[in-house]
Amino acid sequence: MTDLPPEPFFSGPGLDRADALRADVAALQALAAGPGALQLKWRDGLPELTPEGRLVWEPPSSPVLFLGFDGDSARFSAIEDVTADARTAFPLMALLHADDAPLFAAALSLARWHSRHRFCANCGHLTEIVRGGWSRRCPACAAEHYPRVDPVVIMLAEHDDRLLLGRQPHYPPGRYSALAGFVEVGETLEAAVARELYEEAGIRVHNIRYVASQPWPFPSSLMFGCHADAESTELTIDTAELEDARWFTREEVAAAFRDDPSAPFQAPPKAAIARTLLERWLGA
Ligand SMILES: [Zn+2]
Repeated sequence: MTDLPPEPFFSGPGLDRADALRADVAALQALAAGPGALQLKWRDGLPELTPEGRLVWEPPSSPVLFLGFDGDSARFSAIEDVTADARTAFPLMALLHADDAPLFAAALSLARWHSRHRFCANCGHLTEIVRGGWSRRCPACAAEHYPRVDPVVIMLAEHDDRLLLGRQPHYPPGRYSALAGFVEVGETLEAAVARELYEEAGIRVHNIRYVASQPWPFPSSLMFGCHADAESTELTIDTAELEDARWFTREEVAAAFRDDPSAPFQAPPKAAIARTLLERWLGA
């Protein structure tokens, strides 16, 4: 038993990213050719996993992206054309070992960014890979481009010990989860939480607080898990975003986590930070 609150999937230390080495081309080449260097193996556009859910490594053949160090072992990846989205990757994420999840997320977002952002957004020229793959530089206009991170708020709204959860049309039958949306330019996280809950469910909230974060590599989101107190329970659902939204009691949420057949909904999968938010609320 532990008293620590559950951490979101994809969180953890990952590798030593060794930022100071990234600009040293000769050092990275020597590392890739040296003993102990390994390259991530990919399969069908996603990192390959063993039956135990661990990442698969092989001797470097095209070590373009320097992921960092696992102990003394330098780890690299090629650039892969990542086509999988979260829905197609969920079976793999269910198998993925939690200790390898942070590296899975970093490699996936980084490889996809390179395969989709080859040209300069400023002048259109083909850019070149620098800093061990952690940026691209334009030889024509000298602009530097960095792997994107897209902030998303995902939040539980609470009223009188009940939680608001919604379902999107593509969810598996019975699944309800936390509402979420992209943070827009010029917004705080709190403003984005309040706006999204009003836009999608028609409720006003206050006392918005941050709970936990999670990298979400489809393609490069950073999920900010939040909690807010709702001022009323009357819902106006934006049916362009949500198929349904409802309030659930603590007992109903607990039943979903017990996989109770009489539970009124199915809890989010382990890879989703919504599951962590619900677990922490139940534990509170
Ligand atoms: Zn340029």
